[in-house]
Amino acid sequence: MERIHYRIRPIDPHAHLFEVTLRIADAPADAVVIGLPAWIPGSYMIRDFSRHVEALVASQRGSEPRVRKLDKSHWRIEGHRARSSLTVRYRVYAWDLSVRAAHLDATHGFFNGTSVFVFVAGREREPVSVDIERPAGARFARWRVATTLPPAAGKAGAALWGFGRYRTSDYDELVDHPVEMGEFRTEGFDVGGCRHEIVLTGAGGRVDLERVARDLAPVCAAQIALFEPTRKRAPVSRYLFLTMATPDGYGGLEHRASTALICTHDDLPWPGMRDATDGYRGFLGLASHEYFHTWHVKRIKPAVFDPYDLGRESHTSLLWIFEGFTSYYDDLMLRRAGVVDDAAYLKLLGKAIDRVLAGPGRLLQSTAESSFDAWTKYYRQDENSPNSIVSYYVKGSLVALCLDLEIRAKTRSRRSLDDVMRLMWQRWGRDFYSSRAGAAHGLGEDAFAAVLKDATGLDLRDEIAAWAYGVDDLPIARLVAPFGIAFEPVPAGGADGGAGSADPRGAKAVTRRAGARRAATPAAAGASIGARTGARDGAVAIVSADRDGPAARAGLSAGDLVIAIDGMRCTEASLKTALARARPGDRMTMHAFRRHALMRFDLSLAAPRVEHVLRVTGPSALRRHWLEERAPGRGAA
Ligand code: ZN
Repeated sequence: MERIHYRIRPIDPHAHLFEVTLRIADAPADAVVIGLPAWIPGSYMIRDFSRHVEALVASQRGSEPRVRKLDKSHWRIEGHRARSSLTVRYRVYAWDLSVRAAHLDATHGFFNGTSVFVFVAGREREPVSVDIERPAGARFARWRVATTLPPAAGKAGAALWGFGRYRTSDYDELVDHPVEMGEFRTEGFDVGGCRHEIVLTGAGGRVDLERVARDLAPVCAAQIALFEPTRKRAPVSRYLFLTMATPDGYGGLEHRASTALICTHDDLPWPGMRDATDGYRGFLGLASHEYFHTWHVKRIKPAVFDPYDLGRESHTSLLWIFEGFTSYYDDLMLRRAGVVDDAAYLKLLGKAIDRVLAGPGRLLQSTAESSFDAWTKYYRQDENSPNSIVSYYVKGSLVALCLDLEIRAKTRSRRSLDDVMRLMWQRWGRDFYSSRAGAAHGLGEDAFAAVLKDATGLDLRDEIAAWAYGVDDLPIARLVAPFGIAFEPVPAGGADGGAGSADPRGAKAVTRRAGARRAATPAAAGASIGARTGARDGAVAIVSADRDGPAARAGLSAGDLVIAIDGMRCTEASLKTALARARPGDRMTMHAFRRHALMRFDLSLAAPRVEHVLRVTGPSALRRHWLEERAPGRGAA
């Protein structure tokens, strides 16, 4: 056991309590400061995990150490004897069913180390060991452990899928391997010298997990081939997709050798399912996204993330590269793996373009600004967000698209964004965890244009400045044309769309589901009120109003409950029908409750939002090479 050693056990699953014991074998003479992170890497929001810590006490044989809270996340221990063993014990309340914290009941346990393991200030670089213990009671006898934490050597070391002792080389590694425990199902495949396992919790029996493994294997292989075209080796020898199925969740969080995913039961394939549903494609896209992060953000990082400062916000303008490029490649990898065809892929791209164009905020905030302010804007969205911010995920993915197309067109397919990814991988990623000495490990805030030039020979400084640091719309139509693709407007289907999602990780799924819903109701809207709406109490609530749209100009605000249109009862269906039959410029009277007061609003309707498609216009060697590329660096004809 290491000098810093933890023990964690579910002491009361019904009360959602883990008990954690920290033993410092060689307590120093002066005070010991311990603390918990304020945020978890990959989710850029202050969460203050210490708020779920209870009953923290210190003990030592022969002394009575005192514990004093220093601030929201730190404790100081003093009055102990030096050079002997000091123990800290506390409980963690775990009832957050997300990928970001911890969750425990009698059906399973899940935790991220950032929620449960206090660090010893100043000793974060030391190796640590941890005993993961089974909850007491016969009903937990069949529980197993799924984690990529490395088992400790020797007799106490945990067996595969077992409770027992694990060991990491430092605190950063300890908290980068989430742990799932319970009676889960698993299905695996081997690609790139790596054993991949899908670990499924909470789904019951009617899931075709073999199908998931079959579909994910070529996606993983495509990503390995992108980064390591010669060696074809994954960066790790074991990788876990820790998947929790819930009635209505969606999200993922990346780690160095695993990902935690939450999806809905309906998104997963069932035995006998033939074609992939939109929900299942969305799940594969999510898994592809998090797997791509194994290279891009877990090893290739913004320089400011090395090392992470988990005590406060860590600002970078580069999330459009780390999340945006990942969002570009997640679906592109599905295409290259053959999981979706050209038409399905171009449809996904069209949806992403329309998502960006639907938000007036894109004309105010650049993707670089969106990255920097992720902590207070993107992760804390409200009714004003569509008017004031742009997504560094979605617009960032389109910046990646534009850069990739520009590089490919200018070099006649001899170079691509893949070359830029590979160069960053070779410079900073490949040896990230093995060579910790030396200076900056990662991409500097202003270094990207130079990296791109080194990888491709092209100077795209002006394009990067305009597309990632500017707010003008991207020149999609011009850039796709050489690829035999037309970017064309089509009439939008349906009313003004459903409620937006406040969960950043949910944004993509909501888009896909909204898209599916729209496709099922082809009635094209004839006019628009310029607001996002949702059903509430049998009427229609305004979720957010476009700043200069008809609803906002008439005085309607987020939260207003529209109960009548032109004197008739308003429901989601009746609003949709009324808008489908109206024309731009028509008047519409709405009665709505604001809080308790009934108010009347007179709207002058606007033209419906235009949507777009990417249509193939003819054969193109550039397009074939882009969408089917397997061997990199080869010029097409
Ligand atoms: Zn991501």
